[in-house]
Amino acid sequence: MAADPIALGQTQDAFFPRTAQALMPTIVSGHGAVLVDDRGRSLIDVCAGPFLASLGQGNARVIDAMARQARELTYTYSRSTRHPANAELTARLAALAGPGFECAHLTSGGSEANEMALKMLRARAVGRGEHERARVITLLPGYHGATVQTLGLNGDLGAPALWGPLTVEAERIPAPLTFRADSPRGAADASIEAFDAALERIGAARVLAVMVEPIGGQASGVNVPDPSFLRRLRARCTEHGIALVYDEIVTAFRTGAALVAHHDPEARPDLVTLAKGLGAGYAPLGAVLVPRALVDELADGPGFVVSHSYDANPIACAVGSAVLDEIVERDLIAAAARTGAVIRRGLDDLASRLPIIGDVRGRGSLLAIELVARPGTTDRFPADVDPGARLVVAGVDEGLLLYSRRQNGGRFGDWLLIAPPLVVDDTLAGDIVERLGRVLAGVQDDLFLAAARSDQPAPAAPSTPGAP
Ligand code: PMP
Repeated sequence: MAADPIALGQTQDAFFPRTAQALMPTIVSGHGAVLVDDRGRSLIDVCAGPFLASLGQGNARVIDAMARQARELTYTYSRSTRHPANAELTARLAALAGPGFECAHLTSGGSEANEMALKMLRARAVGRGEHERARVITLLPGYHGATVQTLGLNGDLGAPALWGPLTVEAERIPAPLTFRADSPRGAADASIEAFDAALERIGAARVLAVMVEPIGGQASGVNVPDPSFLRRLRARCTEHGIALVYDEIVTAFRTGAALVAHHDPEARPDLVTLAKGLGAGYAPLGAVLVPRALVDELADGPGFVVSHSYDANPIACAVGSAVLDEIVERDLIAAAARTGAVIRRGLDDLASRLPIIGDVRGRGSLLAIELVARPGTTDRFPADVDPGARLVVAGVDEGLLLYSRRQNGGRFGDWLLIAPPLVVDDTLAGDIVERLGRVLAGVQDDLFLAAARSDQPAPAAPSTPGAP
């Protein structure tokens, strides 16, 4: 008897908890910002997957570039050969990134890019004789990837118990979360105080790098820190010879500039990592943006010969170049700021009518709403009420594919992320807000009731967030 092809192998979610599998739509096609499931339902991709599908589905220019490249040259190993598509993409990246980021090392995704950045810095430190420089400081909450080592960088309180024995744990300092803080500046002060204490404890000469999301993604619900935070980090890193790395895997192209690194000249990082919106879902692609001086120092010294087989894959490079051409020629960075402002106004309006929205935050087309358990408070939801999961289910009925993540067991709060493809127009942006309003209005009272009835306390925020 022939085996059931569906029962064999299964899809990625076969490994997820059974409850999550049951609710997952099967997507069979997509066009622009809209995905279609096997029941014929159209779903607007409200967060471009995980902040990823920057151009939406079916972009003709990218598809043509992929096909052209595939016919010309599909693969050659970047460790033993070079090829034009690699140079073409890195030239475009350097032009967009500007002075200080003249070179780019290409990877297959975000976690690899973050690891590559740290490996380069470590190679440079050892080349300088700074053998003791190996520690990394990151934020709690925060997210940098799912490889064994990036799991050790994440600001995730539950992770060390599970992954700790496999990975080298970073030193965490509290992220400068603005919601529930007395003021954004006060939150930044507390983070910087913790940073200074960490330097004292570890010894600044042993710190290799500080890696932060300069504006948060899913782990903090798009926390936008007080500007003094990144400036003070920059100043301290310069003083102590520590590299400042911006993980812009989520933020690139979304916040009204190509990079958050461009927003404030006083807070420029040493390295920037990219992924998601660069390959836009058409190919697995990531990049580390690197100053020429660092590349020269490595090349003139020990060299940096670390590669993965798919680094600078020609088809992925052709995709990246076509994505950047679309972003530049269609001025999608400015479009993200404009459309983001439309969505932001809509969300602010929803917040004035729907008390479940405790906060609206973000920059450009990278936005989030934080959900509160009681009207007029900043109360978090109890451990047994997951408002995001409930909203995702209700969203499908309203034609929205929503992205919510209960990070850290809800200890820092619950949020919904709104970061659609950069190509959505004002009409679709308005449509997203309108539908979202209906979703929230439909579940709000139930969620308030569930929170009030729960005998479980809200998950405790850590009192000493530096020590997960
Ligand atoms: N950094 C950030 C801020 C991310 O959001 C992600 C992905 N969610 C990563 C790194 C890891 O990227 P990837 O999933 O491509 O490995």
